[in-house]
Amino acid sequence: GGSSNGAPRESHIQVMVRVRPLNQSEKSKGSHSIVDVKNNKEVSVSTKEPGFGGHSTKKFSFDRAFNPNSKQVDVYKEVVMPLLDEVLEGYNCTVFAYGQTGSGKTYTMEGERSPDPSIAWDKDPLAGVIPRTLHQIFDKLSGQAVDEFSVKVSFIELYNEELFDLLGPGETPPKLTSLYEDTSRKGSVVIKNLEEVRVHNKDEVYSILEQGSAKRQTAATLMNAHSSRSHSVFMITVHIKETNMDGEELLKIGKLNLVDLAGSENIGRSGAVNQRAREAGNINQSLLTLGRVITALVEHAPHVPYRESKLTRLLQDSLGGRTKTSIIATISPASSNVEETLSTLDYAHRAK
Ligand code: ADP
Ligand code: MG
Repeated sequence: GGSSNGAPRESHIQVMVRVRPLNQSEKSKGSHSIVDVKNNKEVSVSTKEPGFGGHSTKKFSFDRAFNPNSKQVDVYKEVVMPLLDEVLEGYNCTVFAYGQTGSGKTYTMEGERSPDPSIAWDKDPLAGVIPRTLHQIFDKLSGQAVDEFSVKVSFIELYNEELFDLLGPGETPPKLTSLYEDTSRKGSVVIKNLEEVRVHNKDEVYSILEQGSAKRQTAATLMNAHSSRSHSVFMITVHIKETNMDGEELLKIGKLNLVDLAGSENIGRSGAVNQRAREAGNINQSLLTLGRVITALVEHAPHVPYRESKLTRLLQDSLGGRTKTSIIATISPASSNVEETLSTLDYAHRAK
């Protein structure tokens, strides 16, 4: 976003789009691709105009657009690597995956495992942002002149404005009921009883991720919940102790939140809950409030409505101010998804 006096302020919110490939089921239903990416920035969607028999093309421009051939490593390098440098300097950052169910949010954030069992997880080309980030934190810190460091992770699921601890003890994820600000560490958010798992080396990363994902499945089954309606937040906190040239000890604490949002299908093109979702009672308070918080930040509004949803309260210390945020809007290229795709692109474009 720019400011009204003409001097562009440096934007702390980057908006990217990732188009997934057309899948088999879309092809077999006769759907075709209507999305095109140009110059790594422009996304165009061709739509049929009913009644006119013609076509029209809607164009959008973003900080970065990834075409269907983009690789997991490309997305990681361009979106997350720059944020990781900030985190290691002691700042907080957030990456969101936003889009319709089935558009590639989880593929982007968690990734998948290649069917070939001889490929180790840390060499898997399908690994997503979360394992790649953890992996690289260890690579970077073990090669640096830091006295001591620690890496801790938490994994939270947010469903119906309630928080669940995916790394908590027991079979079912414990509910987290208390969320408050730590007055001794200016504005930082504290979640009472949240499990923070210390990760000692990169070999431990994968089992922690698997444990969290398995709990997410169990939780969804037990609550009879739709995973498409829950948000998951993977938090990585890095503490680094350094000694400066005057011999003083410095402690840097940085946090990276990797957020796989609920499906955006109940948000209409205006950015409000669409009629069908409202009738079905599917109002996702956190998703709606996130849109308003981001708009307020982009417009430098005097009031940012963090307190109006659990998600934005949870991320309050990592959205706005000195923090950096990237939104990856994921879309399907299929003609059958045109409405949702335009809706996602409109939402993402408003964050610019
Ligand atoms: P979401 O989390 O948004 O509901 P998923 O990440 O589960 O969607 O993706 C839906 C399906 O599409 C999965 O089978 C996934 O493997 C596939 N997919 C998504 N994005 C890509 C991509 N960029 N390349 C290849 N397959 C993808
Ligand atoms: Mg998903």
